[in-house]
Amino acid sequence: MDLKGQVALITGASRGIGRAVALKLAELGADIAVVYVGNAEKAAQVCDLARKKGVRAEAFACDVSDFEAAKETVEAVKQKLGIVNILVNNAGITRDGLIMTMKEEAFDEVIQVNLKGAFNMMRHCSPGFVKNRRGKIINISSVAGVVGNAGQANYSASKAGLIGLTKTVAKELASRNICCNAIAPGLIETDMTQGLSNEEGLMAAIPLGRAGTPEEVAELAAFLCGSDYITGQVICIDGGLAF
Ligand code: NAP
Repeated sequence: MDLKGQVALITGASRGIGRAVALKLAELGADIAVVYVGNAEKAAQVCDLARKKGVRAEAFACDVSDFEAAKETVEAVKQKLGIVNILVNNAGITRDGLIMTMKEEAFDEVIQVNLKGAFNMMRHCSPGFVKNRRGKIINISSVAGVVGNAGQANYSASKAGLIGLTKTVAKELASRNICCNAIAPGLIETDMTQGLSNEEGLMAAIPLGRAGTPEEVAELAAFLCGSDYITGQVICIDGGLAF
């Protein structure tokens, strides 16, 4: 697959899954906009690695939950790299707790970043997609949004909401040749899940018996970037955890 000449904006690309997706798309020739919220050093490292693959790469600090900041970032990417052709909504957070004791702020914050953040980016990238009559949107949901997960009411709700958003945007934009899909990872080894792969009970629940890697998720994202006939789908990549 050749993504040369395409501009990919990946949120949460300074670390974990977003970083792996950014580097994979760079390997395939796409110019890369690395969006992060606080970790400028790690974002710069991702840009350096991407440039070594021969593409253009720039880092953009942006809290995706901020509607205006997201708008300014999409515009800044356009000025520096060109109109976005590939949008990967990957930025996400957890604030786990049981429903009986979960604080209101913990619910609101997770919805704002995980769900509203993806809306903000899709909202501001869509005019460019429609103008070019091309575009790929990939939303990183979670198996928690497909089957639920005790202790993650806020997170599961945000990820299930992202699936509804994905399916609706897929229907709205299909006539303009734009595909929108969700990836639902299971347990992937990143900062977010540090230490969880040592939990025997959790490992026993995964038929393939191990956590996944960010690179495995990145392969799936790249595959979706190459398909013009898959849209509105939720693809689980979870070692069998959720079937
Ligand atoms: P991670 O290692 O914790 O990295 C999170 C990334 O999101 C960082 O780049 C962080 O930027 C960025 N970020 C956080 N809040 C942001 C905000 N308000 N605005 C912009 N960027 C923000 O996470 P991960 O494990 O790679 O997860 C990536 C995505 O996959 C998330 O949506 C997560 O819910 C989903 N997911 C992960 C797993 C898993 O097992 N790891 C499973 C299912 C789904 P800074 O570096 O600047 O802080």
